[in-house]
Amino acid sequence: MLTAIINSNRSRPIPGAVGQCPFCKSEMIPRCGEVRIHHWAHKSKVDCDPWWEPETDWHRNWKNEFPLRWQEHVFTDQDTGERHIADVYTLAELTVEIQHSHLDPKERRAREDFYKNMLWVVDGSRLKGDRKKILGWRDALTEIVQGSKRTNLFLLSDANELFPRDWLQSPVPICFDYVGPNAETETAPTLLFLLYPGTVHGGRLVEPLTRDGLLRAIYSERVHMPAVRGILQNVSRLRLSRMRS
Ligand SMILES: [Zn+2]
Repeated sequence: MLTAIINSNRSRPIPGAVGQCPFCKSEMIPRCGEVRIHHWAHKSKVDCDPWWEPETDWHRNWKNEFPLRWQEHVFTDQDTGERHIADVYTLAELTVEIQHSHLDPKERRAREDFYKNMLWVVDGSRLKGDRKKILGWRDALTEIVQGSKRTNLFLLSDANELFPRDWLQSPVPICFDYVGPNAETETAPTLLFLLYPGTVHGGRLVEPLTRDGLLRAIYSERVHMPAVRGILQNVSRLRLSRMRS
């Protein structure tokens, strides 16, 4: 984790300090070495959030793109008492979950049901097959053009052609990052690919983005579900004959 509680305040890891896990309240010790991003580790093996996974620096780097106060937010469902800790929760109430490991679709759905207004950032580099698939993105994507204006929104007729199969049924936007821990850095696309949920014109909507572009989209609330639905609706109204540039 990147934060622990010291004297009732969230704190970054400080060498020699002792903190408390914001979720399970057990003791945490700082890891402030020279190789990995400074973080906190549970002192002894404890039952923390079952949804929590050991973090790579890729995961920590993503969390660190956001203000400290947005990181590692503890949620409690008022009706059921179910608790989980989200990677990032923005001021505008969007949960951002960063996922490196394989996630069973059933478990994915449980998290989507719990957080509702959320965005996944998924490590697309985890599997060799997925790293290979994305290399064909330029051929597979057709840009949507409005009049003479390019939109940077693309249609993809078969999402399975480019993206990891396990994620295609998700009802929320997913941003695939191919510069994850297993990336072959000389060939991996440095762009991120935002896959919109649902279908439009018989295909899927995709938006290639830089890292800053995604952060702007998050800050401007463009990846919130109502905005996403609005974008899909606008695209569905366009005439297909205008699609080819
Ligand atoms: Zn804990």
